Amino acid sequence: MNITLCLLPGDGIGPEIMAQAVKTLDRVADRFGHAFTTTEALIGGAAIDAVGNPLPAETVAACKAADAVLLGAVGGPKWDAIDKAIRPERGLLGIRKELGLFANLRPATLFPQLAASSFLRPDIVARGIDVMVVRELTGGLYFGEPRGETEIDGERAAYNTMVYRVSEIRRIAKVAFEAARKRSGRVCSVDKANVLDVSQLWREVVVDVHKDYPDVELTHMYVDNASMQLVRDPSQFDVIVTGNLFGDILSDEASVITGSIGMLPSASLGVANPGLYEPIHGSAPDITGQDKANPLATILSVAMMLRHSFGLQKEAAAIENAVSEVLTAGHRTGDIAAPGETPVGCRKMGDLVAERL
Ligand code: NAD
Repeated sequence: MNITLCLLPGDGIGPEIMAQAVKTLDRVADRFGHAFTTTEALIGGAAIDAVGNPLPAETVAACKAADAVLLGAVGGPKWDAIDKAIRPERGLLGIRKELGLFANLRPATLFPQLAASSFLRPDIVARGIDVMVVRELTGGLYFGEPRGETEIDGERAAYNTMVYRVSEIRRIAKVAFEAARKRSGRVCSVDKANVLDVSQLWREVVVDVHKDYPDVELTHMYVDNASMQLVRDPSQFDVIVTGNLFGDILSDEASVITGSIGMLPSASLGVANPGLYEPIHGSAPDITGQDKANPLATILSVAMMLRHSFGLQKEAAAIENAVSEVLTAGHRTGDIAAPGETPVGCRKMGDLVAERL
């Protein structure tokens, strides 16, 4: 396959982890006979420093011209004090909007080799953690209108609106069912249908979309129960699909129980535009430039990209297996090393994965 990628290294450890992702891509190209053409563009603080804008028009154009986008991370203390309108995070929100990315896929997978990093009890972890949270990204409470401040009986008050259109629910439900087909074939739709009208519509529409996916099992769960079940027994979940607010909270909960922020990839998908793939962690200013960053979340984002944007299952699995083998061989970056273990650096970890590939 000939694939064009736009790389957005961004700030902090972004360029260090991106370099390891490129190594991985080069190996995949060699081994499986694909050609990756890459362009690099500025985003976040790096773009502010260069051109005074966290999302230059050239970056948007380069992303739109690509088949997929791979991002490192944005932000850092250097840009914390500047005008909110041109903060580095604006670059990230802006590119998600420009690409119409409405679905956020966040797998929370615990490699058994890292079981000791999990915050959960060993007997719970022993059952395995492999959950994919599919969160609606552009609707719901965060964007609903009307919103704002008002006065009620002479007292200050504020309000937001949780609103979903049928079309918005349909398209996110489809993403979840499609994702489940590439995994264990189970979707749990999370809502608050016992209280919220918007959740009642959500449930109705998800049930309707499910008719096209008879091979996928569908269950429903209230969000309060789901947040509890995630820590009580995460092994019961395969794909969780939910709205923007509930997904924001549950995707963080799902990822933190694995205990290794440096290991977790993510994908944001639109209808026909290129998908955007990135590690869930930030720019880690505290370890920037020290060759200490864990590149595995970014490398696993490459695997997600190959699987979800290009249907390259074999290639994605090969990357995931290489990561698993490197961990089995006992190699760890500082963030996942046990006390007393000598960690490897970011570059070395990238080399190890490339060698296994
Ligand atoms: P962070 O994720 O950057 O760091 C939190 C902690 O985790 C730090 O101790 C860091 O060293 C460690 N860590 C993170 N990624 C790691 C990796 N790959 N390997 C080893 N250790 C790793 O979160 P933060 O400190 O809250 O934020 C730092 C900056 O990143 C802020 O400017 C924030 O706005 C930004 N941020 C960006 C994104 C993004 O680009 N998607 C996400 C979150 C935060």
